Amino acid sequence: AKHEGRGGFRFFEAAMDAEAQRRRQMELDLHDAIEHGHLFLMFQPLFNLSEGRISAFEALLRWQHPERGTIPPADFIPLAEDTGLIVPIGAWVIREACRIACDWPDHVRIAVNVSPVQFRNPGLSAVILQALAESGLAPERLELEITESLFIDNPQTTLASLHSLRNLGVRVALDDFGTGYSSLSYLRSFPFDKIKIDRSFIIDLLNSDGATAIIKSITTLAEALGMETTAEGVENAGQLDILRAQGCSHIQGYYFSKPIGVTEITALMASKTGD
Ligand code: C2E
Ligand code: CA
Ligand code: CA
Ligand code: CA
Repeated sequence: AKHEGRGGFRFFEAAMDAEAQRRRQMELDLHDAIEHGHLFLMFQPLFNLSEGRISAFEALLRWQHPERGTIPPADFIPLAEDTGLIVPIGAWVIREACRIACDWPDHVRIAVNVSPVQFRNPGLSAVILQALAESGLAPERLELEITESLFIDNPQTTLASLHSLRNLGVRVALDDFGTGYSSLSYLRSFPFDKIKIDRSFIIDLLNSDGATAIIKSITTLAEALGMETTAEGVENAGQLDILRAQGCSHIQGYYFSKPIGVTEITALMASKTGD
């Protein structure tokens, strides 16, 4: 604290310094993690209800910190976005996800989360093309998950980028659907392959008729637009029954499977599909 002042002000400044210090340390650690390969992916299956089999896995990023153990993405992705580190991290996620998925059966896709910062970076198409070429993965087996927040600032630029990504042959899913603003207009402006219904709607299903009505209208709309639907965060059979009855095409959540490590995938596919 360089300023003179009342005690409260110095205390506030010291707290700010501590927070800045913590973030600076975490940024250094994150650089280190990238360099030393301390980032890894977990995979959570998406289950196709009508086919009765796994149709995809979502890649979920983790950080194996040498002292702090496994750190979840919510604790470091915001910092990675602020510092721009999400661009190389996100590129690694895409390459790693394609490399792993190319060994799976052809009908099983890999879904990857794309941060708005990464989406706006002009290098994204090249990263995807390179990952597909390196792995030999068919483009339609890669599904990019983007969020509605991309449409707030510059919807026309976002649409143009979405179309050029689609021209690479990859699929695009709208993640966390229902949590942003005036969601319906985005559905009209781009033909998403899939809508992922946010977990907050699924949580409400067992104690609110309104939640069921919302699911019903989303699945009806999606079907009319030729889009698939995935319900996120399905945790019990009661939710699953309602989702099935309301025409949801896919489910994802702890009820079916938690995110698992790469070595557990083959066994899970065998046990859940019988093939
Ligand atoms: P998301 O894309 O909405 O991912 C779903 C999150 O819900 C995951 O948390 C998953 O583990 C969790 N989840 C799945 N099923 C259930 C359930 O039944 N109950 C509950 N309570 N939770 C469930 P996770 O892995 O901690 O990821 C959190 C968020 O971090 C993701 O939310 C996504 O926005 C972001 N994220 C994860 N990996 C990446 C990545 O590689 N790149 C970027 N940019 N973001 C990522
Ligand atoms: Ca996601
Ligand atoms: Ca989501
Ligand atoms: Ca979410």
